[in-house]
Amino acid sequence: MDKIVSLCKRRGFVFQASEIYGGLAGFYDYGPLGVELVNKIKAKWWRAVVTESDNIFGVDGAIIQNPKLWEASGHLAGFTDPLVDCRSCGTRHRADHLAGTDSADLNELKELLAEKACPTCGQKTLTEPRRYNMMMKTWVGPVEDESSLAYLRPETAGSIFTNYENVRDTMRAKLPFGIAQIGKAFRNEISPRDFIFRVRELEQMEMQYFIRPSEQEQEYKSWREFAWQFLIDTLGITEANLQWHEHAENERAHYAAVAHDIYFKFPFGFKELWGTHNRTDFDLSSHQRASSKDLSYYDDQSKESYLPYVIESSVGVGRLLLAVLVDAYREEVINGDKRIVLKLKPELAPYRMAVSPLLRNKPELVTKARDVYKAVKKKYGNVIWDDNGNIGKRYRRQDEIGTPQCITIDFQTLEDDTVTVRDRDTVKQERVRVGDLLA
Ligand code: ATP
Repeated sequence: MDKIVSLCKRRGFVFQASEIYGGLAGFYDYGPLGVELVNKIKAKWWRAVVTESDNIFGVDGAIIQNPKLWEASGHLAGFTDPLVDCRSCGTRHRADHLAGTDSADLNELKELLAEKACPTCGQKTLTEPRRYNMMMKTWVGPVEDESSLAYLRPETAGSIFTNYENVRDTMRAKLPFGIAQIGKAFRNEISPRDFIFRVRELEQMEMQYFIRPSEQEQEYKSWREFAWQFLIDTLGITEANLQWHEHAENERAHYAAVAHDIYFKFPFGFKELWGTHNRTDFDLSSHQRASSKDLSYYDDQSKESYLPYVIESSVGVGRLLLAVLVDAYREEVINGDKRIVLKLKPELAPYRMAVSPLLRNKPELVTKARDVYKAVKKKYGNVIWDDNGNIGKRYRRQDEIGTPQCITIDFQTLEDDTVTVRDRDTVKQERVRVGDLLA
């Protein structure tokens, strides 16, 4: 993990937020390469879920909503993690993490933690576990009191449910149909940890699929398959690094009837990456009750009115980025030289190609290399110019950020208009005509 964190910093993928002030626990910024990779991951997901589908529509809801939404959705009462305080040193800890269990049952945790010492000071002075609400608070308008209290959304799903009817009506959608959203969510995690794995400001990609209750098993299965295949086929993640985890009853979120997570083999163990949940009609019925608006669906096939069921697919962008980086990271020895290489899928790599003149102090090479650079950049967009250090160093640097191909302009280029194309994975070099690069 230290190696990934160091690579992220050294090469501009991820920085600590407000680093010059010592950072802020649970907050990170993406650097120039990180933002490229993240944008590509999001674009792949959006394309697979929204653009390529005929019945899934996108929205982009506000981060702050009427607090009644979170009351109805059960987040005010139920979006909690179990917490213990240490009476000696005042630190707070996630009770389930400390007990080494997935269970959120307070009685079970109390038993498991009876003899536990505080991980910070070593004293056996932990309080009994209690529930702690993870929603971040703010106030809307100039007066800070109960009536202006609002919450930063803890998941993007909220505004999908409240817009269910708007989307259905404006898009003339019939069941089954879905609503998808990519956006920030906030969770006041008790102990943010493991770099960008558990943060307090996160980004989610969520899709709620509204279905007839009778379709729940089939749709649940197909959205589980979608997540698994997307990770492997679209993001290039190694199947052996993935496994299924079914939530036990004491672990499920308050809204879920069934939940399956895909776990990824992070350096700190197999941990949750992507959740698929059967939320039933929990959300629509809660919002219908709380808002007194009729949210039922008239099914012109069965001639009945009912509340649709919802299958949810939900994944964190930062966790996906971390999984993609961990999966792609390799240390290799090639011809006696050590190298670090990110074997990213070429379409995900922050830069598709790097272009270099063999020598930076030969104007005729630099001029020709600039021409080639302009032409390939026009065609592929994300191409980087690299004339720092010698060619060996450039290759190492591009390997480390996963650039699939390095193009070098040398003296032969001036004679026959061919360049060397060096492949990241095989390290083989091939001479290619400039015209063929573009074709
Ligand atoms: P965990 O058990 O790890 O806290 P969760 O079960 O609460 O996660 P969900 O509410 O199902 O997670 O959220 C869906 C997805 O959002 C998760 O699978 C994960 O990828 C991402 N996610 C949730 N919480 C965080 C967080 N604090 N930091 C980064 N990503 C997160």
